Amino acid sequence: MYTMGIDVGSASSKVVILEDGKEIVAAEVIQVGTGSTGPKRALEQALSKSGLELEDMAKIVATGYGRFASEEADKQISEISCHAKGIFFLVPTARTIIDIGGQDAKAIRLDNRGGVKQFFMNDKCAAGTGRFLDVMSRVLEVELSEMAEYDSRATEPATVSSTCTVFAESEVISQLSKGVAKENIIAGVHQSVASKACGLAYRGGIEDDVVMCGGVAQNEGVVRAISKELKRPVIVAPNPQITGALGAALFAYQEAKKES
Ligand code: ADP
Repeated sequence: MYTMGIDVGSASSKVVILEDGKEIVAAEVIQVGTGSTGPKRALEQALSKSGLELEDMAKIVATGYGRFASEEADKQISEISCHAKGIFFLVPTARTIIDIGGQDAKAIRLDNRGGVKQFFMNDKCAAGTGRFLDVMSRVLEVELSEMAEYDSRATEPATVSSTCTVFAESEVISQLSKGVAKENIIAGVHQSVASKACGLAYRGGIEDDVVMCGGVAQNEGVVRAISKELKRPVIVAPNPQITGALGAALFAYQEAKKES
């Protein structure tokens, strides 16, 4: 039996096709999200990679910020539930999840059966989210995928003290014009994101294992900064951008099984 999870995010679109609730047969990411052609392209790519048709899907669940725009979905489920489901499937020892996406950041506490005990979310402000890093990457003229490498060469991380993305952008421009090395500015930017994410996580109390997901988890500089701040190891979920879509595909499997 095949099921599909579609995660229509603010920054990217993700589709996972699952066989019998166990095996991932396709996991596609398109780096544009809701309101774009991203969801359709991710879906078409996943079907063509797996050699399957939409009709082969027993059930389809959509999640993410733009989940209600998905025409193909039989049901919509929140990202909190879907990330929890996807992460627990991949890392059953996970008890604290930190998810940093395009326009929000979340800390989720799990019980030992994978249920959501508590969650805390920042979706009011771009600081501490992927958007903050996107803005800084543009100002610094460093690709997102290169930010971690720059950070690893930092000798004296700069302080990025503004809690507002617009002011922080001015702060970074000012540091650049004073000749502060990009490596040190980037390390400061990563610390700023880490301290906001950890602030959310502290609110629910931290329990090991701590697992990170969301697009920003691909930035090892942010992962290192979070691990340092929390004083404990942080596990990065395999393919961290697709965990919400995976959770949605797992829920779809549960639904399909219930009905059959
Ligand atoms: P959403 O689910 O809200 O659409 P994602 O979880 O896909 O968001 O995360 C999007 C963010 O991930 C982007 O804003 C960007 O900062 C970050 N990102 C995407 N790709 C990379 C990469 N290769 N390296 C580092 N960061 C990345």
